[in-house]
Amino acid sequence: MNKKPESKEGTLRMQTNESLEKTLMQVTESHLKHFIEKLHNLEVGDLKGLEAQVRSTINTIGCLIMEATLSAAAQEQTPASQKEGACGHKMRLVGMRGKRLQTLMGAVTLWRPYYHCAGRRAGEEDKPSEDEHAAHGEAPADELWGVQQHRCSVGVQQAISRLCASSTLQEAAETLSHLFPLQMSARQALNLIQPVGEALQEQEEAQQQDLFKQAGQARSQDEPVSLPPDATLRRMYVEIDGVMAR
Ligand SMILES: [Zn+2]
Repeated sequence: MNKKPESKEGTLRMQTNESLEKTLMQVTESHLKHFIEKLHNLEVGDLKGLEAQVRSTINTIGCLIMEATLSAAAQEQTPASQKEGACGHKMRLVGMRGKRLQTLMGAVTLWRPYYHCAGRRAGEEDKPSEDEHAAHGEAPADELWGVQQHRCSVGVQQAISRLCASSTLQEAAETLSHLFPLQMSARQALNLIQPVGEALQEQEEAQQQDLFKQAGQARSQDEPVSLPPDATLRRMYVEIDGVMAR
């Protein structure tokens, strides 16, 4: 049998995208040149100043590289002018709209096709809808990149999760805003870590139920319960990274 190598849907075909490659090289080169020009202002021995300037250059380049790559992925396909929304209604393309995302390098804009709900099902153009609902919009790319519920990269989510494990929300948000070029409030931190907490709780409950089930089965078979002696006492440690991994 002839097996064709399956092309993964949604894979970034960056290698073949010459214009993206060109953009990335240009962006990097121009900002490195800018850095070299500014080197004259630094005094020998000013490690703090040098570090700050290198970091700022790298962050700027990083943001532009992310934006260019995200845009290239969006431009690969011409967006459909109409589509069916999650609500079952016909949605019309409004245009390309930007969504600001916080990343560890700074804020970047994700440009993606944005659709608006027409409030009625396909083929019901003129009739008023029976189940009319509030006007709303949808951007399928948000789900694709995992940012439909918030405006943060996975790196930012992991960083705030780690910080929240050992400090208050307020402290964690302040530390993150201090370490990285981004703005985070305690409220935003809470919104980000809430799903993680819920996932952890679900995982813990599922594991407990499994243990009870096993214990029940063992008893019904009149066999000794084959659980580790400290199974119920042991605290479950779950790596936050494992939960965040998609
Ligand atoms: Zn709708």
